[in-house]
Amino acid sequence: MMMAGKKRCQCCGRMFVPDRRVGARQRACSAACRKIRKGESNKRFRGKNPGYWRGRYDMVKAWRKEHPDYQREWRQRRKEQRMKLSAGEIQAEMFSKALDAVQENVLVLREIQAEMPFQLADIAGCFAVSPCRSA
Ligand SMILES: [Zn+2]
Repeated sequence: MMMAGKKRCQCCGRMFVPDRRVGARQRACSAACRKIRKGESNKRFRGKNPGYWRGRYDMVKAWRKEHPDYQREWRQRRKEQRMKLSAGEIQAEMFSKALDAVQENVLVLREIQAEMPFQLADIAGCFAVSPCRSA
């Protein structure tokens, strides 16, 4: 039986509870899976639109020369918008980021844990043929 509100991650296939702020739009269980999905999406886009990014920097460079203060002002506006967030919203944001970081670390730890038996076998193999133990 499927639990209410749970979804299957489109990247790793595990079940997860979507962040309530994202809801039905969330497709990946963690930041790591989201990053993988985004990479695949970018790859598809590049495949469908070869040369999309070529020759654009000259246009961007010219535009930036005409609008020298744009980025500084954009950063300032963004900073001010973030200052408007309530303490609760900032905490929720920080908690969400911390949770993502923990999930990423868990993935890395699981990979390390999965590798350990093989490395132990390698080490055991090294000792088995060690010249020090032949005497
Ligand atoms: Zn996943």
